Amino acid sequence: MPEEPDAEQHEPVVLSVVIPMFNEEEVLPALVSRLRPVLTGLGVAHEVVAVDDGSIDRTAELLAAFRLGWPELRVVALRRNSGHQAALTAGLDRAAGAYVVSLDADLQDPPEKIPEMLRLARGQGLDIVYGVRADRSSDSGFKRWSAGVYYRLMRRLAGPSVLAQAGDFRLLSRAAVDALKALPDQQRVYRLLVPWLGFPSGSVTYERAPRKAGRTKYPLGRMIRLAVDSVTGFSAAPLRIATWLGAGAFVVCLGLLVYTLTAFALGRTVPGWTSLFTGIVFIGAVQLICVGLLGEYVGRIYTAVQNRPTYFVRDDTAASAPAEAGSDADPAGPRVPLPRG
Ligand code: UDP
Ligand code: MG
Repeated sequence: MPEEPDAEQHEPVVLSVVIPMFNEEEVLPALVSRLRPVLTGLGVAHEVVAVDDGSIDRTAELLAAFRLGWPELRVVALRRNSGHQAALTAGLDRAAGAYVVSLDADLQDPPEKIPEMLRLARGQGLDIVYGVRADRSSDSGFKRWSAGVYYRLMRRLAGPSVLAQAGDFRLLSRAAVDALKALPDQQRVYRLLVPWLGFPSGSVTYERAPRKAGRTKYPLGRMIRLAVDSVTGFSAAPLRIATWLGAGAFVVCLGLLVYTLTAFALGRTVPGWTSLFTGIVFIGAVQLICVGLLGEYVGRIYTAVQNRPTYFVRDDTAASAPAEAGSDADPAGPRVPLPRG
């Protein structure tokens, strides 16, 4: 047998579908009934890696039940909720396929596009096939606006290889997955990291559907976190903004200095409350912004130096025995360096 970590299948796995899930009990049955026929229809050896990201609803129970009648379903259970990108990392680290598709559980990305992605990758020898949302009219106005700003900013910071509206629905070749696994990055944002790898890529377009069931697991706070991680992970430009803010404040202060000295010379020094107050508030704000910007980068350095795994696998149904803490104690088979994403 080849050294594929999958113990249950003897044929090498051609396609792995990685699906991070956090409290998705409501959408799971619909997901299974749409995904399974698509994969069966492909006629290639495949596995579905469901990453249970510390769900506290019946997701784990439902997955166990589906597994009884679906041998291709593999469940990787994380010890606690680690976030979408970390769950995706856990899935990519363990997927065995020659190609790996990542898919959201909520059916906003149509599984029916997977055959087209695989055909394109195999036919043209591509390592990456992005799913690009041609139509987001099902998203709320705010989501569309914030996504527009996000992608414009990211294309400026991380380069035009970042396709606008390409989220986490994509196909990766084994080579691309291995390249990602070898990266030391901790707070990963895959939609920026993947284009940055520079592999030959293509794309398929699709219409973004509304969430099939359940509620979004991306509240505003998490969206802001993703945006901050995206920016600080790819650019030191905000630190330069701090410098420019400081320089601007300095020029304004020089102007104010001339004004105060003139006022002093003319003996009109008492009614200075407004200018004094404005100056103090202005300088205070600029300093706080700059300290906050520095803090974001220091925070990244801190996390990188700590070098802790970003997820812990509690159980992987493909492994013979449940895994102990830490993804480095991985009984599922030999793997490339410590997963730290
Ligand atoms: N998700 C996850 N862990 C989290 C949050 C989300 O695994 O902490 C999964 C979620 O189950 C879904 C995917 O990430 O499969 C995308 O989340 P969601 O659809 O809620 O985000 P949205 O489409 O609203 O941006
Ligand atoms: Mg969604």
